Amino acid sequence: MISVDAHRETVTGLLGNAPVTRLPLASAAGLVLAEDVLAGVSLPPFDNSAMDGYAVRAADVSEAPVTLPVAEDIPAGRVDIAKLEPGTAHRIMTGAPLPPGADAVVMVEHTDGGVTDVRILRTAVPGAHIRRLGEDVVEGTVALPAGTVLGPAQLGLAAAVGLAEVPVRRPLKVLVVSTGTELVDAPNPLRHGQIYESNSIMLASAIRALGCEAEVVRSVVDDVDEFRAVIEPRLADVDLLVTSGGVSAGAYEVVKDALTGQGVEFRKVAMQPGGPQGCGRWNGVPVVTLPGNPVSVLVSFEAFLRPALLSAMGHSGVDRQKVRARLTESMTSPAGRRQFRRGSYTHSEGEVTGIVGPRGGPGSHLLASFTQANCLIVLPEDVESAAQGDEVDVLLL
Ligand code: AMP
Ligand code: MG
Repeated sequence: MISVDAHRETVTGLLGNAPVTRLPLASAAGLVLAEDVLAGVSLPPFDNSAMDGYAVRAADVSEAPVTLPVAEDIPAGRVDIAKLEPGTAHRIMTGAPLPPGADAVVMVEHTDGGVTDVRILRTAVPGAHIRRLGEDVVEGTVALPAGTVLGPAQLGLAAAVGLAEVPVRRPLKVLVVSTGTELVDAPNPLRHGQIYESNSIMLASAIRALGCEAEVVRSVVDDVDEFRAVIEPRLADVDLLVTSGGVSAGAYEVVKDALTGQGVEFRKVAMQPGGPQGCGRWNGVPVVTLPGNPVSVLVSFEAFLRPALLSAMGHSGVDRQKVRARLTESMTSPAGRRQFRRGSYTHSEGEVTGIVGPRGGPGSHLLASFTQANCLIVLPEDVESAAQGDEVDVLLL
């Protein structure tokens, strides 16, 4: 048996780093910048008005009220900006360039709003309501450093400094394959002995939630030739193959039988659930093989694929938030294995630690209780039991 951490490291190493590509901003949400992004322009790119009002010389409005002729109208977007002559005002809108000669803006609320002459009711100091060139970002400096996760604010800034595309780690393409002769896709009717296939949608949605692409192959029956015939031709188009089922100790273990000796190694990882795991390369393409039980699939995804995919996509924080919490009931765990139990964690205001209790038993077929969980309770390899009130590690999902 190998440790959870060792297998996680192997899977992370197998995936490596996703290639760098340039994508339009609209396709880059949630991805990670692969290079520093320099500002092509300063922000603001020119001195401009922070208010709808009147551009003036502060010296002309040092006493109020005062009436000035309105010499120009400057809506936002006007590019031919005339000089402001002493003793005059320009009507100006928010974001419009400040005319040369002006050193203050009087907001419209402090005037009579006149269009030929304006009566200014309050004095203004130099610099009032002016947004200065480069106040936010200076041209040529790093607007967004490599490693930045592109959320709405970051994409907005990239657009504001003039970028149409950004260099990012491109979404990995993952081929998801479920195996099992017993599997049926809804809404086809079930015969006795058959079950509905549920791993593909779990894996695909979990993969997509990380910003990767997932392609799902219809489930493959437990037949080595069929498995090879369906999957092998599709490998060339993907960065990673993820399978579920067919890797444990029984007979008809299709994934194990098809990929043993082809560059994929099958091993037992010291964890519960999710012991039987495999990884390697098939025709040069990274392969991660997960066990079949739905809860094992999701726990394996959390333990191995989620951190490996995030790391490959350039994310630095790949771990779930870990907290300590007091158990609401006792639990047992198999010796020598790290147990991941589905749990429900709550933290009341004012409490130092939260509390956590298991949702459902340890059985890896108990998917319904996973849907009521918001965390995984982690009992380490050297722990065989934990009592009510004991503090345990909790991974927040
Ligand atoms: P296996 O590892 O193939 O022996 O599968 C272990 C258990 O998980 C069996 O009860 C399978 O029926 C079940 N299982 C495997 N694959 C799936 C799937 N894609 N959807 C739902 N259950 C599955
Ligand atoms: Mg199977």
